[in-house]
Amino acid sequence: MEQSEITIAGDTPGVEWRLPVLHFRGDTKTAPKVYLQAALHANELPGTAVLHFLCDRLRKAEAEGALAGDVTIVPQANPIGAAQAHFGEMQGRFDLASRTNFNRDFPLVTLAERDALLADLDRETAVKRLKRRLLHMALGAELVLDLHCDDESIQYAYIDEAFWPEAADLASCLSMAAVFLSDGESTAFEEAVGHAFKHRGEGKLAKVPGRLAVTVELRGRRDVHPDTAKADADGLFRFLAGRGVVRASEPHAPAFTGPAVPLDNIDMVRALEPGTVLFHKDIGDTVEAGEMLATIITRPGLDDGLYEMRAERSGLVATRTSDRFVRRGDDLMKIVCKDRIRLDRAPGTLED
Ligand SMILES: [Zn+2]
Repeated sequence: MEQSEITIAGDTPGVEWRLPVLHFRGDTKTAPKVYLQAALHANELPGTAVLHFLCDRLRKAEAEGALAGDVTIVPQANPIGAAQAHFGEMQGRFDLASRTNFNRDFPLVTLAERDALLADLDRETAVKRLKRRLLHMALGAELVLDLHCDDESIQYAYIDEAFWPEAADLASCLSMAAVFLSDGESTAFEEAVGHAFKHRGEGKLAKVPGRLAVTVELRGRRDVHPDTAKADADGLFRFLAGRGVVRASEPHAPAFTGPAVPLDNIDMVRALEPGTVLFHKDIGDTVEAGEMLATIITRPGLDDGLYEMRAERSGLVATRTSDRFVRRGDDLMKIVCKDRIRLDRAPGTLED
């Protein structure tokens, strides 16, 4: 393993950001190249822990001469977000200076335009430089995984339909409970990578076999544990073995049997009244239409102080807010439904 560091000048005097990058060199030219990053939303750390343990396994594979493909790892992709704190809490999702989500606004380029990402970099702000650097590294690989997490959540991923069902091996290796099939129409990191993979010449490719760009949601923000991190690192290693990146005889993961549904099938349940939320359903539960999802204490102590939130449709509770006070309109849950339930959703991501 070699370590390098990308230096990004800050936007104010005296500030400079340093981004460590870990490189594992494979010995087989035809093997897929891999790029893995975590904590682009700086306060989402499950992936950083997973990549730490994956590096152990890759170092061992490298020492044993079992590494076929190059693997590039950025275990903590956003030093700028990690340094943002307000009143004792990290603000890792949005750049406070520009109000932009750290996982949006990636440039949409074709694969042939990859090197243009680094042209005139010194004219860009630190966040834009960081985004261009990350995307440039990713576009040097065929398999690209961006490791995030949700709030309280099952294990799932956003995968562009262009990579499905080929990517079911990843879903199976990481024991995902569901896959959200995205439409590739946003400027999130994974979608910018997918955009370049699909635009490799004339027109747009519907399928891109042998390539992958995915946003993995490694459960919830507080799900940073030694056991799950090691298990997920083993899962990623198994995925890499299956794709011919490492030569290892890994046990077969059971086939992925969870739901893989378009974003239009995701019911975004929002709080219709503000108050203290009492959940009746947990992540991983299945619900029937009409069942109680949550009660919100809207007027504490009063006879009619409870507001009931019932499921409008049946499905699987994939995520839940970790807040216990909700404002009107706040996201409460994502429920994976069997059928298309949203007819008016604009293409792109589910959340800001
Ligand atoms: Zn995220």
